[in-house]
Formats: sequence, structure tokens, C-alpha cells
Amino acid sequence: MNLELSEEQSAVRQLAKDFVAREIAPHVVEWDRAENVDRSIVKKLGALGFLGLTIPEEYGGSGGDHLAYCLVTEELGRGDSSVRGIVSVSLGLVAKTIAHWGTEEQKRQYLPGLTSGELIGCFGLTEPGTGSDAGNLTTRAVREGDDYVINGSKMFITNGTWADVVLLFARSTDAPGHMGISAFLVPTDTPGLTRTTIHGKLGLRGQATAELNFEDVRVPASAMMAPEGKGFSVAMSALAKGRMSVAAGCVGIAQAALDCALKYAGEREQFGKTIAHHQLVQELITDISVDVDAARLLTWRVADLIDRGKPFVTEASTAKLFASEAAVRAANNALQVFGGYGFIDEYPAGKLLRDARVMTLYEGTSQIQKLVIGRALTGVSAF
Ligand code: FAD
Repeated sequence: MNLELSEEQSAVRQLAKDFVAREIAPHVVEWDRAENVDRSIVKKLGALGFLGLTIPEEYGGSGGDHLAYCLVTEELGRGDSSVRGIVSVSLGLVAKTIAHWGTEEQKRQYLPGLTSGELIGCFGLTEPGTGSDAGNLTTRAVREGDDYVINGSKMFITNGTWADVVLLFARSTDAPGHMGISAFLVPTDTPGLTRTTIHGKLGLRGQATAELNFEDVRVPASAMMAPEGKGFSVAMSALAKGRMSVAAGCVGIAQAALDCALKYAGEREQFGKTIAHHQLVQELITDISVDVDAARLLTWRVADLIDRGKPFVTEASTAKLFASEAAVRAANNALQVFGGYGFIDEYPAGKLLRDARVMTLYEGTSQIQKLVIGRALTGVSAF
């Protein structure tokens, strides 16, 4: 693996850094306190091509490889995880999945809008009763003539309140030989679909997370993506690549933790010298730095494998598991460097810790990642 970035990769990383400094950093505290990112950020992300990375240009995408996608995701995560999540879901889980599994008609209908930021996508897998055990979902799509009629509900859906289209997973058949789950693209203005914003989150407070309810939601059969019954494969393949994106966001959090801890340690004085002079403060900072490096290398390895067409599922779980736990450790260590000031939101460490915490929970908890890795190592499924 070549660890040297190409000119194109360096340029896109710099573009993202500048964007974060200009459009995100000045608003982070305000958005977090108001529990609302300014929605106009989505079209700005689209205008720079950040919502079209890895998507072919013929569908409005901006091309680029998965390492470029990781670099942008890392920078956005360094700025604000709520904004980073918009991209990880609308591009990472929805547009990329449509590009891979969608029909030509679905690609033409949705990809130009999703990549420009005209449309926002959300990913509807989790339900109130099924999280880790997603294969047991109960939302039902029943065939009626040329339509499917959908009933059920989805929980914790990132971008849920804002989204124009939901990539929905529902049980559509009891035919033997597969899990009976199919994937549908459902416009969110379809009658019978209602959304309730979830308030009071510990982190990612600026993000529009919602519960979605489907009551006799009627969609044409052409809304189905991939063959009937293949929905669980669609979801798992989306999440495998999604885990790389989450890991890259975690690298961004850990890097932000390192940046702010280093700066503060060089300014704050105790015992007649800056706290950077104290060995135990250096230990906190060193631990953050080691976590940043290790998480970044594991994440880049996944991008490299995907770009070379190699298997990457176990490596993506490894990167997601390590990077999410590392981001929590790094943010917590940074908070310690800030002392009491770390506990108030005028300083960045507390928000980094709150935002990092969910990374060990979504797109498969740390326990689920361990079961994925354990299955690959032992050949035994412990699910
Ligand atoms: P549960 O599955 O009930 O797990 C509870 C605990 O049991 C966890 O510690 C878990 O690790 C453990 N556990 C469960 N099964 C096992 C096992 N077999 N072995 C060992 N331990 C086990 N979902 C979407 O579909 N789309 C989204 O956009 C989305 N965004 C989210 C955004 C936020 C802010 C949050 C909080 C969640 C989001 N989710 C989303 C849902 C997320 O993926 C789930 O919360 C996650 O998969 C865990 O499911 P659960 O919360 O039901 O926990």
C-alpha cells in the first residue's frame, strides 16, 4: 500500500480543510446548542463535489477514489460529526448503494440530486424492536397489483427529518431460500409516511435524526432496488463500506482531539510552566496521537482494498471497531488535558467526546464488529 497521497488526493483534502474552516468551524457550538445544523450546508457540500465522491460522473458524481472519500470524511469529522454524518449517510449509505444496486432508471432519478445536495437520502434499517438483529425486522411490504403497500416503523434514522428519499428495508416475501427482506426507494412525501424528530441526543445533536412511520404507504413495484429478497445483502454491503466512512469520521474526531489538546497544553500554565512540560500531560497527548495514527492506517487500508477490488469486510469492521473506540479514548484524554474547562462547551473536547460516543453504537455496535471479526477468524458464527 502506497501511503503517499497523490496530488489529486492532497488537493481534495485541502479543499475539505478550507471548507471546514470557512463554513463549519465558526458555527459548531451554535449548531450543537440549537440541536440544528444549518441545512444550507448540504448544497454547499454538493457544490464542492463532496456528496458525489466515488460516484461516476455520468450520474452527477465527482469521481475520485475511496481514499479521497476517506480524506474528506476525516476533515468533515474533524470539523463537526453532525455534518460528517450527513455525507456518510446521503452519499455513503444511499447514493453509493443506488450506484451499485440500483436500476438505470433509479440511478438517473436519484443520483444527480443526491450528489448535488438537491436531494438528501436516509437509510431505514433499524426499527424500535430490532437494532443489532436487523435481519429480524418486521416492517412489511405487501404486493397489491403493480404496487407494494408498506407498514411499519424505523428508529434512529440519520437525516430522517430532512431526507427526500429513504432507502427502506422491509419484509416482502416469505419465499424460502432467502431472508425475505427487500430494499425500496421511497420518496418521503409519499402519503402515509410520517416523521418525528428525536431530540435530546447525547451527541450529533445538530443532526436531523428521526423515527419514521409507514402506514399503508403505497409505492410502485419499480421502487424496489435489487431482486426481491436480496435486501439484506444490499443492507450488509452498504454497511460494510459505511463502516469505513464511520471510521474515517472517527479519525477526524481523534485528530481534532489531538489538535485542541496540543494547543491548550502549550498555553495553559500550572506550577509555573505550561502543562505541556508535565510528563503525565505528555502521556495523555501521546496516547491520543498513537490512536490517531493507528485508526487512520486501519481506515486507509480499507479504502485501498476497496479501490483495488479486494475483499474488505473484516478489515472494515476492524477499522470501525478500533477507530470508534480510539475516538472515545482520544476525546476523553483531550478533555482531561483541559481540566475543568473541558467540561464546558466553550471548549471543544466535551463535544468531541459526546459525538464520539455514538460511533461505538451505530452501523453495528463494538460487540457486533467483534462477532464479525470473530466469525472470520474462527469460521464459527456466534450471532
Ligand atoms: P441493541 O441491538 O438492542 O443492543 C443493545 C446492546 O446489546 C448493545 O450493547 C449490543 O452490542 C448488545 N448486543 C446485541 N446483540 C448482541 C450479540 N449478539 N452479542 C453481543 N452483544 C449484543 N439505524 C439505521 O438504520 N439508520 C440510521 O441512519 C441510523 N442512524 C443512527 C443514528 C444515531 C444517533 C443512533 C443512536 C443510532 C442510529 N441507527 C441507525 C441505529 C443503530 O444502528 C442502532 O442503534 C444499533 O445498530 C444498535 O441497535 P440497538 O440500539 O437496537 O441496540
